[in-house]
Amino acid sequence: MNPDYRGRIAPTPTGYLHLGHARTFWIAMERAAEAGGQLIYREEDLDPQRCRREYAESAIEDLRWFGCGWQEGPDCGGGQGPYRQSERYPRFLEAWKRVKEGGFIYPCEKSRRDVASATQAPHADDESEPLYPEHWRPPVGTGQNFNEPGALNWRFRVPDHRSLHFDDLRLGPCAFECLRDFGDFLVWRKDGVPSYELAVVVDDAAMGITEVVRGEDLLISTARQLLLYEALQCPAPEFYHAPLVVDRNGQRLAKRHRSLSLRELRVAGHSPEALRSTEDWWSGLDENPES
Ligand code: GLU
Repeated sequence: MNPDYRGRIAPTPTGYLHLGHARTFWIAMERAAEAGGQLIYREEDLDPQRCRREYAESAIEDLRWFGCGWQEGPDCGGGQGPYRQSERYPRFLEAWKRVKEGGFIYPCEKSRRDVASATQAPHADDESEPLYPEHWRPPVGTGQNFNEPGALNWRFRVPDHRSLHFDDLRLGPCAFECLRDFGDFLVWRKDGVPSYELAVVVDDAAMGITEVVRGEDLLISTARQLLLYEALQCPAPEFYHAPLVVDRNGQRLAKRHRSLSLRELRVAGHSPEALRSTEDWWSGLDENPES
């Protein structure tokens, strides 16, 4: 038991939650309960172009149906919250200032598309981000004279070829190398939105999160975030990277099967118990889930 344990679930309301999200959140809830600690629900609704209130509301409803519960956040009977990143902007700006003053970030004119066409992703899977070309980096110290981010992208200058190690609570020792596995990454977007990496670190630190449970697809993000914890001089939490939900052909659910949102599974008559507990969960689902 560890009553000081603080975990969190942090959905991004850009669409309906699918079974993969729910299984990760379920693990987060079980780990918080086993520790006798707290689970916090945080809405990561920073991107005004992609996030919708309707999805945020349905995520709460769908997770309740799935059986998830939390002690802080929306709809939890008088506990603290809700926590919405869109209402926490001053914290992110403050963090931007700190990393800017520390000389960790620089303004960058290049778009994601520029980076994608200049270079290749470091890993074969299509999700890893292309490496920001080293020769595009401005001299050290660039950007120090800015008082606000303005309409510019800002990137974190990763330390040359530094190895980052952490002990994942499920996967064991993990190691990534800067400039090989990932390059300079965005902390602020020119449309005024803090990046996921910055916002998640600032909020996990502000909320005193002791353990982050997230999908295995975010391992490299965790490595990037360790650099941000260091730059912000905050202790990093522990990490547990949950397995991704795949279909019987090993394909990631999120990638392939449109129709496996919790909403649709519920309407189709699946029970949350069966979806949570089935080892071979796929066998209980539609034979033709892509239709
Ligand atoms: N909002 C992020 C997502 O839905 C959270 C990821 C994380 O756990 O850090 O992917």
